[in-house]
Amino acid sequence: MGKGRAGALPGSRQPQPSPSGRGPVRPAGGRLRLVGGPGPCRGRVEVLHAGGWGTVCDDSWNISGAAVVCRQLGFAYAVRAVKRAEFGQGGSLPILLDDVRCAGWERNLLECQHNGVGTHNCEHDEDAGVVCSHQNPDL
Ligand code: CA
Ligand code: CA
Repeated sequence: MGKGRAGALPGSRQPQPSPSGRGPVRPAGGRLRLVGGPGPCRGRVEVLHAGGWGTVCDDSWNISGAAVVCRQLGFAYAVRAVKRAEFGQGGSLPILLDDVRCAGWERNLLECQHNGVGTHNCEHDEDAGVVCSHQNPDL
């Protein structure tokens, strides 16, 4: 087997214990949810910032960004980075992130390179999504 497009995500199975010893540490910013997909493993990516949810534009969106999202949500694998609002449009939500460029190790999307929260040249038909998995999609 060669190296697949969707690799294992280091650290996804071993969350750091919190100082209190109860549960994983949650990053302060960049909470996520997946919306509009069948099942919990896929959907449009929505990011919580400053108390409000918003969407991510698909410009530059790739498997490294999907890896950050999937790991943050507790999945072991990122299967696919989804473009063009395949899981529906975020409608009335603001578009929070555009030109997101992740290396793959970041703790959340806000740590990736992007244009600045709320700065974008996208429409909602470019909403980004992900497909994650608990199982290796290359097996
Ligand atoms: Ca685009
Ligand atoms: Ca853009």
